[in-house]
Amino acid sequence: MKIHEYQARELLHSFKIPVPPGRMIESIQHAGEAFRAAAEGSATGEVVIKAQVHAGGRGKAGFVKIVKNIDEATAAASFMLTNRMKSPQTPPEGLEVKKVLVAQAAPIAKRGTGGSEEFYLAITTDRKTRRNILIASREGGVEIETVAHERPDAIIKVPLHPLLGLQDFAAREVAFRLGFRGRQVPQAMHIMKSLAKLFIEKDCTLAEINPLVLTPPDEQHPDGQVMAIDAKFSFDENGLFRHPEVEGLADHSEENQAEARAHRFGLSYIALDGQIGCLVNGAGLAMATMDIIKLHGVGKGPKGADGKPTDIEPANFLDVGGSATEEAVTEAFSIILSDPRVKGVMVNIFGGIMKCDVIAQGIINAAKNHRNPDGSTGFKVPLVVRLEGTNVDAGRKLLQDAKASLPTLQAGSDLTDAAAKVVAAVAK
Ligand code: GDP
Ligand code: MN
Repeated sequence: MKIHEYQARELLHSFKIPVPPGRMIESIQHAGEAFRAAAEGSATGEVVIKAQVHAGGRGKAGFVKIVKNIDEATAAASFMLTNRMKSPQTPPEGLEVKKVLVAQAAPIAKRGTGGSEEFYLAITTDRKTRRNILIASREGGVEIETVAHERPDAIIKVPLHPLLGLQDFAAREVAFRLGFRGRQVPQAMHIMKSLAKLFIEKDCTLAEINPLVLTPPDEQHPDGQVMAIDAKFSFDENGLFRHPEVEGLADHSEENQAEARAHRFGLSYIALDGQIGCLVNGAGLAMATMDIIKLHGVGKGPKGADGKPTDIEPANFLDVGGSATEEAVTEAFSIILSDPRVKGVMVNIFGGIMKCDVIAQGIINAAKNHRNPDGSTGFKVPLVVRLEGTNVDAGRKLLQDAKASLPTLQAGSDLTDAAAKVVAAVAK
């Protein structure tokens, strides 16, 4: 689960990590007032307007703007709330912006070598070493992926102690390697240690500050101030029950709608790009089903731009779980068929705890309830069903008896037969 930057800033603040104050607004009318509040405490009078969407790359896309007066603030907020944000991290059609952050802009110190004092700091789990690690770089800001790719030596990685977290000596070493000096060192250490603590306490999978900046020296801070001006968090969904306060931060309008709907019915659903919808019980069987569709689908799709035939591929991963109800199966069909790319459906069920007759009844109900765009009911797309296991005879009989209301139904005798049949039906 992800949260917005304005929420991430509040979370950092609650762990005593310095962040410039700001306010989230949802309407252009509030831009003026929010600007005044932010400008008041700002030494330079500068304010930053930032689109709140669950994707990065906003700076380059023009969705982070520094403004100096109310007119500029209103214009920037108005641009962001009426245009879709497109970056390499968004879908091609971009994301709608419904929230905007208006915050005090932090002045950023310049580096003697050119550029500005922007750093990268993150805690995540490193699967290779099976530890949580701190990742840090002097080359923070907007191109960290490029830095990691082209100059891996510019990325510092330090494992966290499994029990003690980020220890002082480790944090101090990283602070020095990042180039912090004098009174900047304890500030940077405090931020790293707090971020590591936050990561563990809130069951994060990623806690990232990018950029962490150094401000120019002033009277209060003769060595400048180290602070966070952008942050991204992901939380382990399996840990959310321990953190109702985090769960409450979810913005469901930012999630894939079909995936959110599936989640409410206890279904594991991931949307993909192919044409064949899959309804399967068990994650392993779902993977195997996707594999076999891919195997049989090679070169069976329509001709691509280069004149060569494309592949027919799965349109989704869907695991209805071990004990899905008729209702959940009906919902699963409805979710699969709401994807306009779906040109055929393969149902692959191995009844263990799950009973095949429950699935069969779910299919029959779903066909009855499914509404096509032209207003008619029933399934229009080819449907191949392979059932095996508990109550399989009862399940097959139910489907046989309902043949009139399932005109596109074919039975698959086994996995290979079912995959070959659904690919052939879609390739027609
Ligand atoms: P992202 O592009 O979506 O990651 O958005 P960021 O919040 O990281 O902003 C991108 C860049 O805009 C930063 O790397 C900074 O260079 C600049 N920026 C953002 N906020 C501020 C600010 O408060 N003050 C200054 N001086 N620059 C900022
Ligand atoms: Mn950023």
